[in-house]
Amino acid sequence: MATLELDTVTKVYQESDDRIVAVDGISLSIDDGEFLVVVGPSGCGKSTMLRMVAGLESITDGVIRLDGQVINNVKSQDRDIAMVFQSYALYPHMTVEGNMSFGLEESTDMPDSEIASRVGDTAEMLDIAELLNRKPGELSGGQQQRVALGRAIVRDPKVFLMDEPLSNLDAKLRSQMRTELQRLQEELGVTTVYVTHDQTEAMTMGDRIAILNDGELQQVATPLEAYHEP
Ligand code: ADP
Ligand code: ADP
Repeated sequence: MATLELDTVTKVYQESDDRIVAVDGISLSIDDGEFLVVVGPSGCGKSTMLRMVAGLESITDGVIRLDGQVINNVKSQDRDIAMVFQSYALYPHMTVEGNMSFGLEESTDMPDSEIASRVGDTAEMLDIAELLNRKPGELSGGQQQRVALGRAIVRDPKVFLMDEPLSNLDAKLRSQMRTELQRLQEELGVTTVYVTHDQTEAMTMGDRIAILNDGELQQVATPLEAYHEP
């Protein structure tokens, strides 16, 4: 169960004499279990918005709420929000199993046996159970992306944030992973914010689409409304 609310959220970067308003007063409410796709041109503030929700970037102004609680000052690891990056960001020296269990070991007092069982179940679900003892460098891009997803899923977070998670994959794999992500979303029902520049992903995956431009929210609409306007 998780609703996520952005209330006039703003991010200003100060670069010597330049003020860059990366996110400009965005207000947006994401329902429990909703899959929201965020689209917009490069540099419009998509990643900055996600990073603020994840707690990886400070918020200049405005409020972010998770289930009604203000999380502006909650540390990233305490937010119950998992982020998947375009670059996978796996630890190269750790095995797949290590990558998937690390977060749980660090931020919970879950017993090792339960961590192992969760990692096993998640690996089965993502079809990477046979890779648990490998290192990321020995895996294909698609396999690495599954591990990155697994690392997020295994934490059983309230919210998934995904920043162009499929854009490093070739077209065939991308379409396969798209289908798989939809299946996972239906199965897990986790509130998801998914950034992409791929129109097919936006049209087929989202319950709603948020269109950003120059740091501002232009429109929030269903795929049908967003792409089939007269
Ligand atoms: P998108 O994800 O839509 O491509 P970003 O959120 O990465 O957009 O960037 C939004 C704007 O903020 C851009 O103008 C970008 O150059 C700027 N920006 C992003 N990160 C930083 C940073 N760490 N320092 C300064 N400016 C940044
Ligand atoms: P994306 O388009 O996926 O946001 P970017 O290449 O824009 O990726 O950003 C990658 C990293 O570079 C981010 O950590 C962001 O904060 C940083 N960054 C982006 N734009 C700037 C900028 N103008 N000045 C400083 N850092 C930036």
